[in-house]
Amino acid sequence: MITNPVNGKFELLTLPYTEDALAPVISAKTIQFHHGKHLQAYVNNLNAALPGTPFEGMSLEEIVVKSEGGMRNNAGQTLNHNLYFLQFSPTPAKTAPTGELAAAIDRTFGSLDSFMTEFVQKGVSLFGSGWVWLAADDQGNLQITQEPNAGNPLQHGLHPLMTFDVWEHAYYLDYQNRRADQLKDLSKILDWSVIEKRYLEVIK
Ligand code: MN
Repeated sequence: MITNPVNGKFELLTLPYTEDALAPVISAKTIQFHHGKHLQAYVNNLNAALPGTPFEGMSLEEIVVKSEGGMRNNAGQTLNHNLYFLQFSPTPAKTAPTGELAAAIDRTFGSLDSFMTEFVQKGVSLFGSGWVWLAADDQGNLQITQEPNAGNPLQHGLHPLMTFDVWEHAYYLDYQNRRADQLKDLSKILDWSVIEKRYLEVIK
């Protein structure tokens, strides 16, 4: 993932799949707007705001933790969308977690099914725009957090593992007002090998 600036600028994430690959859950049209317009705008705004600030040269994660206001919003939205788009695949290497992450999910939520039900419910009940997260503390303990607007669990000292974007721009072209239906369907395109890799980085 691109979390460090290249020659002083952040780059738009290159998607590891074609723009129609995640349809019908995420259509090509949604990818064109969500990745090509919304995410690009956050990256552009961040790059425009960086020069001459103490945040030049920092990683996205550092900027998200250390900045505030517009800087934090644009860095947060860039990081959040990178984590979001990279966790999906039309051909997931793993369609369910295994090993340490599977054990932690069972321990914390009872089962993968009960975790997904709670995760979707917390995305549905998040009022307005924001993100629902699966996050881990330094010891690997899991929790679900609801973050408004550009929020990221890093701001509470937690490690982000998986996220659903509940801003209307993430689902409106495909699902209109049916946020719950899109969140349920997103589980079909999650690549748990990506989420597991993030978890193993935390507990290693
Ligand atoms: Mn979004």
